[in-house]
Amino acid sequence: MIIGAGPGAIAAAYRLTEAGFTDFVMLEKQDRVGGTWARNRYPGLACDVVSRAYQFSFALKPDWEAPYATQAQILEYMEQCVDELGLRPHVRLGTAVRGARWDDVTETWTVVTEAGEELEADVLIASPGMFGEAVWPDIEGRSSFEGTAVHTSAWPDDLDLTGLRVAVVGSAASAVQLIPEVAKEAAELHVYQRSANWVLPKEDAPFGPEQIAALAHDRSALEAARAEALEQVGARFAFVLDEVRVLMEQLGVQNISMVDDPELREKLTPTSPWGCQRPLFSNVYYPTFNRSNVELVTDPIARITPMGIVTADGREREVDVIVYATGYETTRYISAMDIVGRGGLDIDDAWADGARAYLGITTAGFPNLFMLYGPNTNHGSIITMIEYQVDYVVRMLDRMDREGLAWVDVRPETVRAYDERIQRDLDEVTVWDAGCHQYYRVPSGRIVTQWPHSMFTYREWLTAQDPIDAYELAALGVPPAE
Ligand SMILES: Cc1cc2nc3c(=O)[nH]c(=O)nc-3n(C[C@H](O)[C@H](O)[C@H](O)COP(=O)(O)OP(=O)(O)OC[C@H]3O[C@@H](n4cnc5c(N)ncnc54)[C@H](O)[C@@H]3O)c2cc1C
Repeated sequence: MIIGAGPGAIAAAYRLTEAGFTDFVMLEKQDRVGGTWARNRYPGLACDVVSRAYQFSFALKPDWEAPYATQAQILEYMEQCVDELGLRPHVRLGTAVRGARWDDVTETWTVVTEAGEELEADVLIASPGMFGEAVWPDIEGRSSFEGTAVHTSAWPDDLDLTGLRVAVVGSAASAVQLIPEVAKEAAELHVYQRSANWVLPKEDAPFGPEQIAALAHDRSALEAARAEALEQVGARFAFVLDEVRVLMEQLGVQNISMVDDPELREKLTPTSPWGCQRPLFSNVYYPTFNRSNVELVTDPIARITPMGIVTADGREREVDVIVYATGYETTRYISAMDIVGRGGLDIDDAWADGARAYLGITTAGFPNLFMLYGPNTNHGSIITMIEYQVDYVVRMLDRMDREGLAWVDVRPETVRAYDERIQRDLDEVTVWDAGCHQYYRVPSGRIVTQWPHSMFTYREWLTAQDPIDAYELAALGVPPAE
């Protein structure tokens, strides 16, 4: 059974069918497939990884219109993949999983949906994504606002901002994509920035018809284009390379120079090094601040009133709409559901000090449960990282078939040793210690989201042989020990 119908679930479903495992269902709480790209629909949303590297290796698309696809284009691609790869019959939409419990006697998972339905599964592939839960800031008076309040993750399709006074709270990834679009419609746009982010230029000229035609009729050219894009995204781990940081900051400063007002330029210049926060790209973000209807507010927000936002200097700006571009709760992973493993082990207890998983995929005490886009796997092109994980899972299922195994459970020592290694490697990435606001950490300070090496290193780790006793194995038909 697969939880989700986003890119991770789609990749898993395709590879499962290809390997002959056809008896599975994908449980998806939304009313359409596509995951992130179905849920998030704010204006300006686009991929920030080149699309030739952000596509499935088994469904290469020759006709991406430009290097960075828009949300609508990616969603259409996801829908097409589900249809053309014959996965639609496996999908059950509108089915939210509340939790799952491992039965030590039947050696199966019982999955419970929000509607109370119980479904049994031998193997669970959990692909719930990392950005499912919106973070609303804790600002005094937030609920008193009488205008329209929206979070970027739940953009109302019928929201028309034409002629309205709009506040955007936040200046990170979603804000940078959204602000130039909102500025075109709103009468006034006030951008509340807590800290400035590096926003780099990107090459985004649309592909010409000849470029697209060349790929459409030449499979090897199509594969070469993906390989080249992946090489750019995946070969190096830029965050530890000083020369890259210096170059990126130079490009950032150049990009900021598009802002006419020197005082504004200064306010938009980050005080933390490039890489401390998630790298951002836009050619249109900074010029937006030259518009007469756009104001950058750097005074901290003191409170929200029924009419608008009051900053620490006592000034109130009245607005019709507040857009919260304040990000997502990213560190919960499968513990966002009620997951109970061997001997009644609750995932919240197993992960009391934050999520951890061997290779980001398996965690001790939860047999036959494989996570996609799990702890410490966030880096580069997530579709590609997920494909590496799916290959690992399918190899594991093949092994279970071959060796007649009822279940596999990664040993606690394996997870501990792996996690210690990862945390040590994360400590080497000094730029992540530079004190900027990040979604990477749990309260104890552990980084539980980021992968600390290149994508290709991750692939190497996943294709290497597991240590001989990494997993506890149980043979089929052998009664469990008392
Ligand atoms: C705004 C935004 C922009 C992004 N841009 C990029 C980018 O440019 N490049 C990049 O590499 N990555 C990007 N990402 C990350 C992106 O989430 C991943 O690339 C990719 O979508 C992960 O696929 P997934 O299937 O693991 O998760 P998701 O796409 O999140 O899909 C998970 C699915 O599981 C479903 N689900 C969750 N819980 C349950 C439950 N309990 N029961 C049933 N269904 C459930 C969800 O509804 C969802 O459909 C972005 C994320 C966001 C939010």
